[in-house]
Amino acid sequence: MPRDRLSPTRTLRRPQDLADHGLIAPDALPALEQVAAQFAVAVTPAMADRINPADVNDPVGRQFLPDARELDIQPAELADPIGDEPFTPVKGITHRYHDRVLLKPVHACPVYCRFCFRREMVGPGSEALDEAELEAALAYIAGNPQIWEVILTGGDPMILSPRRMGDLIARLNAIPHLGLVRIHTRVPVVDPDRIDAEMVAALKGARIPTWIMLHSNHWQELGPDQVAAIGRLVDAGLPMLAQTVLLRGLNDDVATLTRTFRALISARVKPHYLHHGDLAKGTAHFRTSIAEGRALMRELRGDVSGICQPTYVLDIPGGHGKVPLGQDYLTQDGDDAWIVEDPRGQRHPYKG
Ligand code: SF4
Repeated sequence: MPRDRLSPTRTLRRPQDLADHGLIAPDALPALEQVAAQFAVAVTPAMADRINPADVNDPVGRQFLPDARELDIQPAELADPIGDEPFTPVKGITHRYHDRVLLKPVHACPVYCRFCFRREMVGPGSEALDEAELEAALAYIAGNPQIWEVILTGGDPMILSPRRMGDLIARLNAIPHLGLVRIHTRVPVVDPDRIDAEMVAALKGARIPTWIMLHSNHWQELGPDQVAAIGRLVDAGLPMLAQTVLLRGLNDDVATLTRTFRALISARVKPHYLHHGDLAKGTAHFRTSIAEGRALMRELRGDVSGICQPTYVLDIPGGHGKVPLGQDYLTQDGDDAWIVEDPRGQRHPYKG
């Protein structure tokens, strides 16, 4: 992306750093210092390089650069919008569903997304699990044989060193009833150089597969370095899915979603979830309505290849789980009789 400013060589963590690198206007500093006092800021060099600061609506910039609108906290917004806390039997574990748990070894991220659903929990000062806490979390998993899948999340678990990641994957592989490790991460996009040969080797379990769930929201995040990092993972046999957050003014139009999902598929990442924006504090300016999200999904269904279509989902506040929000194409019309609506809205009888 053409720029006439200095490319950073380290992660930018203070509004002053962002102003020094031409990413925010100096006169915005007082308000953005207030935002940064409340919600952590970090922009990696890889993401700074993909921001066009001349565009106030730059889709990469809007994801990571603090915004004074974050100070506007709505009454409906929550500190724990998807309700992790009531489902935390031991530190670092969220056990909401029968056959799977979240394991959060770290609470820091390489970037801080301005719409983060765990923004009250993550940040550079947040502690990782210490060895005794990690041992207790692994003992919980080992002691609950109905758990089939462990989802490493946080924070972003891929900030672990390859040595620590490899150790954790090996310990999970040693729990006999586990069948899958899934890793939720932004690292292949926001810090692609971390995906080196050592990290790729660390991720491969000896017994059970490791799947990578990439968080990616806009095709402009996906430059050659990002596609190459994804390629290193997929070439090593690590299947990849993507989760995308529907964000107002950033990707809430059919053309952007189509291009984003096609870019992911081209990089060999299957779009899995399109998340409706969570009720995280100070994020109202990012949220669409559910009706808008459903209308977008309906348009996509008609015109875009099925392989590019994620499931549009809502995490019900309070920890009640994730449900699809998509269009219902079926109306019952008697015993075994249905009216099916096609993607263009025409209705057809179906019996059987
Ligand atoms: S990477 Fe995930 S956990 Fe970290 S700030 Fe972004 S949304 Fe939140």
